[in-house]
Amino acid sequence: MSRVKLCDGCNKEYNVMYRVQYKAERLWHFLCKSCVVEVKPNNHHYRYGGTWKG
Ligand SMILES: [Zn+2]
Repeated sequence: MSRVKLCDGCNKEYNVMYRVQYKAERLWHFLCKSCVVEVKPNNHHYRYGGTWKG
């Protein structure tokens, strides 16, 4: 049995997630790696809060 989370960006399930802030609202989101790569460049709201492994 593997544990997964749903990515806030693409709504797919992953067993490795990145806890990040990337909007002005300062809430933590779980994103997959490819979504992090999309939101990170030139984003001054971006903040990394750790990696989750299921
Ligand atoms: Zn994603």
